[in-house]
Amino acid sequence: MSKDKNAPVAAPTPPVSNFIRQIIEADLAAGKHAGVTWAGQPGPAAAHAGAPLDSARIRTRFPPEPNGYLHIGHAKSICLNFGLARDYAGACHLRFDDTNPEKEEQEYVDSIIESVRWLGFDWGPNEYFASDYFDFMYEAAQYLIRSGHAYVDSQSAEEMRASRGTLTEPGKDSPFRSRSAEENLDLFRRMEAGEFPDGTHVLRAKIDMASPNINLRDPVLYRIRHAAHHRAGDTWNVYPMYTFAHPIEDALERITHSICTLEFEDQRPFYDWLLDKLAEGGLLARPLPQQIEFARLNLSYVVLSKRKLIQLVQERHVDGWDDPRLPTLAGARRRGYTPEGFRLFAERIGVAKADSWIDYGVLEECMRDDLNARAERRVAVLDPLKLVIDNYPAGQEEECFAPNHPQLPELGKRAMPFSRELWIEREDFTENPPKGYFRLFPGNSVRLRYGYVVKCTGCEKDAAGNVTAVHCEYFPDSKSGTPGADAYKVKGNLHWVSAQHAYRCEVRLYDRLFREPNPGAGGRDYLEDLNPDSKRVISVCLEPALQDARPEARFQFERHGYFVADRIDSMPGAPVFNRTVTLKESWGKVDK
Ligand code: ATP
Ligand code: MG
Repeated sequence: MSKDKNAPVAAPTPPVSNFIRQIIEADLAAGKHAGVTWAGQPGPAAAHAGAPLDSARIRTRFPPEPNGYLHIGHAKSICLNFGLARDYAGACHLRFDDTNPEKEEQEYVDSIIESVRWLGFDWGPNEYFASDYFDFMYEAAQYLIRSGHAYVDSQSAEEMRASRGTLTEPGKDSPFRSRSAEENLDLFRRMEAGEFPDGTHVLRAKIDMASPNINLRDPVLYRIRHAAHHRAGDTWNVYPMYTFAHPIEDALERITHSICTLEFEDQRPFYDWLLDKLAEGGLLARPLPQQIEFARLNLSYVVLSKRKLIQLVQERHVDGWDDPRLPTLAGARRRGYTPEGFRLFAERIGVAKADSWIDYGVLEECMRDDLNARAERRVAVLDPLKLVIDNYPAGQEEECFAPNHPQLPELGKRAMPFSRELWIEREDFTENPPKGYFRLFPGNSVRLRYGYVVKCTGCEKDAAGNVTAVHCEYFPDSKSGTPGADAYKVKGNLHWVSAQHAYRCEVRLYDRLFREPNPGAGGRDYLEDLNPDSKRVISVCLEPALQDARPEARFQFERHGYFVADRIDSMPGAPVFNRTVTLKESWGKVDK
């Protein structure tokens, strides 16, 4: 972690090396991908009119399936892929892996584009949809049939499962495995023509039912689905499986390094087998893409499964996809998390080959470091108690000047109105001070930050004994920044807001959505681990300058943490604020 907390946040230079960078550097040194063009390539070549590739030395991709909103785990993959392209003068494609007609929607496509842009990355002309390659995939499947590498299997799903074998036993050949190429071609075309109901036939690769790697036991390439696709419409009655489609997408786009998460490691032999066969047949050009696996992000106190995120939204455990408590990027943005903070996080956690858990506090610390360096300071009283300065003339007011950032004098100062009645924090006064309490209590003096020194004279209470106002007297020659002010030596330094000038509004105090580091561990329903106090809405008194805060303006509220003007609920001249993160790690501590 950087020593100077206020240094501007940038990617470390040079970037920390890792095993993926080492592979890329070796490939570059060997000239493995030099001179590659789009020419003669189907797929995106059409869009690029056969032009040479943009001068990319490497080519990576971020390939989301548009079946949900992006989350913090995706941010790791985005920063990795786009970051490598940036660092090695390459290109990174944004590719929608939309091969499954059933769960994909335009709403998700739009939100993905918005989130990747928001993280600060640009893919130029390289935006692609896997569904645009359906024609090529269909051709490729027919080539595999003709060359004896694929067959139509007419077993039921149960029969296929039963004959697949186990980790210790080999599988059994399907009775349909020896169909002739002609018969297979005819059946496959009729599958596509819509002659058969869903589930009656599949196209399988013909590899080895006895392979120790189950993924090589004649994996399914195509299945029948009489379903409309969000882009291709009703054109197709067969759809490619992900394991067949993904390598082809990579190869058509001439991806050099296809980076994915570890669960695909066992798929790599099939990835290589498939591309090699298609290159042999002249359908694809070499060099072929190389699949490289890295460990996915696991974050404590967070669920990242799309299924669970959809459930949280649909069952209204949260207020929509952009709820600031969700780990979606849309939610993180509303919470006030920053793109710079995410990029810093990706650098700090690095990439590795072994699964691990990252503590949520690491992400919060990245946001704090970024915000501390940049966010302007403001004053907010979150739990207001009236302070009356009895010897200050009623009706009089004056200005006190507060720096906008303690380490960045170039950000200037702002005026805060001061008057006879102020708001202070309720916890900044007590009648019976414990040892070491330096704030207001009868007889004690404190400085009102950027203003005067005051001496507490007493308080008012209601019938129930609750303190309703605190009284004090000020020392007219003690104003901060005036000659002689330093003669006053006090230990307490309180923040305050002038009561008549205060901007009163709503602040949402967000906390972690789950109270357990590993929600649902030990077979519990993960919903049981929801934190019932993850959102608290309070009414606060802010310094008047905050009334002009624009949506998404971020501030440090002194002593309280970082806050952002909500980008959805703020009205012009009437912002409401979300707490992004406390000033210090506060999870599990009483004083939140
Ligand atoms: P699913 O495939 O179950 O729908 P997914 O989270 O893998 O969910 P994709 O849309 O396939 O979603 O993900 C796009 C890319 O983001 C993939 O390359 C995937 O490996 C990567 N990714 C997803 N989750 C994580 C994670 N937790 N950490 C790092 N990368 C991730
Ligand atoms: Mg996936």
